[in-house]
Amino acid sequence: EAKRQGRNRFTWFAAPLAEQAAHKRKVEMQLRAALEHESLSLHFQPLIDLASGRIIGAEALVRMRAADGSLVSPASFIPLAEETGLILPLGDWILSAALRQLAQWRRAGWDDFVLAVNISGIQFRQSQFVPRLAEMLEVCAVPGRFLELELTEGVLAEQSVDAIAGLQQLKALGVRLAIDDFGTGYSSLSYLKRLPIDRLKIDRSFVDDLPGHAGDVAITRSIVHIARAFDLAVTAEGVENQAQRDFLRELGCQSAQGYWFSKPVPAEALEVLLREGHGRPA
Ligand code: C2E
Ligand code: MG
Ligand code: MG
Ligand code: MG
Repeated sequence: EAKRQGRNRFTWFAAPLAEQAAHKRKVEMQLRAALEHESLSLHFQPLIDLASGRIIGAEALVRMRAADGSLVSPASFIPLAEETGLILPLGDWILSAALRQLAQWRRAGWDDFVLAVNISGIQFRQSQFVPRLAEMLEVCAVPGRFLELELTEGVLAEQSVDAIAGLQQLKALGVRLAIDDFGTGYSSLSYLKRLPIDRLKIDRSFVDDLPGHAGDVAITRSIVHIARAFDLAVTAEGVENQAQRDFLRELGCQSAQGYWFSKPVPAEALEVLLREGHGRPA
């Protein structure tokens, strides 16, 4: 009886773990296949200037097409790509695809448009990261200032000699730097005075319950003030309705992204929005 119970207990604990492992293996295989067969793509979410309602840039967000044709969310495969080291070839693919697209848009006349690309800490810490990026910028003939790299607080809070040198080398290329999901990571703000940052991106979790939630109002207002004090650009993420948009605009938040303006869309769909000049009338 005890043995049977033991076995049952074993099964009860082990099954979810085994399922997790199987799921991980499946996603890893899908990711390897996607890298080989180019079933990766980029979607682009417009960045809106809140005063004018115009599109001033976009964020590239990777998508993976599964064998059944469905799109797999990066939230599920980026952590796994980081765990397995696949983030390096994946990150390389993303950067070069993003820069090729940006070069094409610039040739089409959209030449004051900044494209943001998310960079994983593992990718950033790689010694070849900056030289590779410099080469890609040169090949695509894109001036560095039209590329913005989004890093999370974890990478910056480190403040290691290598990390600081890496950021300075990126600035030497003219590349812009943004802190993604600002306010959700390490609480140390000391890096703001030391590191060459250009933009803070207010995490969606603080925007969700605006303008009704007093705590989120206080946090959002503080981030906008910090940005102004440090002379940084500031972007609110995840704006889904007009009340949020109006509130952020009145607060003096310069720019925003979110479903209210546009979901992330394929390149051709972004071009349609660019031709119209805006994501949604201001
Ligand atoms: P993130 O960089 O903070 O990107 C914003 C995420 O919020 C995107 O999800 C976007 O689709 C979603 N979003 C934008 N507006 C709204 C909105 O109004 N409402 C809601 N509910 N969501 C909104 P996505 O594309 O699934 O990406 C999730 C995360 O995966 C990203 O968060 C980023 O951390 C990571 N990621 C995406 N693409 C890449 C990439 O190319 N490289 C790396 N290293 N990470 C990436
Ligand atoms: Mg981002
Ligand atoms: Mg974010
Ligand atoms: Mg994120």
